[in-house]
Amino acid sequence: MITFLSGGTGTPKLLAGFREIHEEFSVIVNTAEDVWVSGNRICPDIDSVIYALAGIIDEERWWGVRGDTFKTHFRLKSLGFDEGMMIGDLDRATHIFRSEMLRKGMSLSKATEMLCRAFGIKQKVIPMTESEVATKVITDKGEMHFQEFWVKRKGEPEVIDVKIQGVEDAKASDGAVRAVENSSAIVIGPSNPVTSIGPIIKLSEIRKVLKEKRVVAISPFIGDEPVSGPAGKFMKALGYPPNPEGLAEYYRGIADVLVVHYGDGFESDECSVVEADIIIRSRKDAVRLSKTILELL
Ligand code: GDP
Repeated sequence: MITFLSGGTGTPKLLAGFREIHEEFSVIVNTAEDVWVSGNRICPDIDSVIYALAGIIDEERWWGVRGDTFKTHFRLKSLGFDEGMMIGDLDRATHIFRSEMLRKGMSLSKATEMLCRAFGIKQKVIPMTESEVATKVITDKGEMHFQEFWVKRKGEPEVIDVKIQGVEDAKASDGAVRAVENSSAIVIGPSNPVTSIGPIIKLSEIRKVLKEKRVVAISPFIGDEPVSGPAGKFMKALGYPPNPEGLAEYYRGIADVLVVHYGDGFESDECSVVEADIIIRSRKDAVRLSKTILELL
């Protein structure tokens, strides 16, 4: 079996292609960006993975459901209630379903499994933990939740540090531990190393197993810039260069193979470095990169 570690943009882009050439895999998903909004538990990364695997993700934005409307969101706004993030009407149904299950005492893993079944997904989508864990960004404007930093403040504040609140006491979910243990190889998708993959590999039960497995990591950086998003700011704040070499340093002891963009290759004692076209502009690109990954596994 193959298990992916995923955030909510880069890896779902890859998974949308991978599922076309290889059906059997599991995905362990970051939950440190989850928040309660308007009474519902929103798991942005789990939702994006589910929508990508169900083939219904909005491929323009890489979040939410294709063709969704925002009537409830705008009605709330006109009532004087700003949700702080755009929530589509169909997307909200997922959040309501999940939150009802959680309120009934169901685990996040079980609620996610039910959602996957309802969306006809063959793969296992597994939250990294059942505990509530939250990424806090420490900035020149104060400490804030990742969602406030990225969605509300558009990633503008200067980043001083990043903390994953609660991760030290959190236990990896049983399903996540089982998935890594039963996998012959692990793929760390092209996700934000600090805020998407960081929380997963900080869970000691997972980290321990990863060290013994063949792990292939795909770079979210091209040269000295991330393809998109705030990963560069976070890497710099933690003292890593925001490039494939910094990534090798960040994944030291875990990654055996690093897939970087053409021209980004370098010598490393830690892992082997493979060059490929890692930019995903279309489903065809995702399938092409997936074939390269399958060969490396
Ligand atoms: P988040 O949860 O929304 O932050 O999503 P992820 O962590 O899964 O994805 C964000 C990362 O994906 C960013 O660091 C991007 O650089 C990376 N990314 C986005 N698109 C691509 C792509 O086409 N190719 C690669 N290699 N990385 C990408």
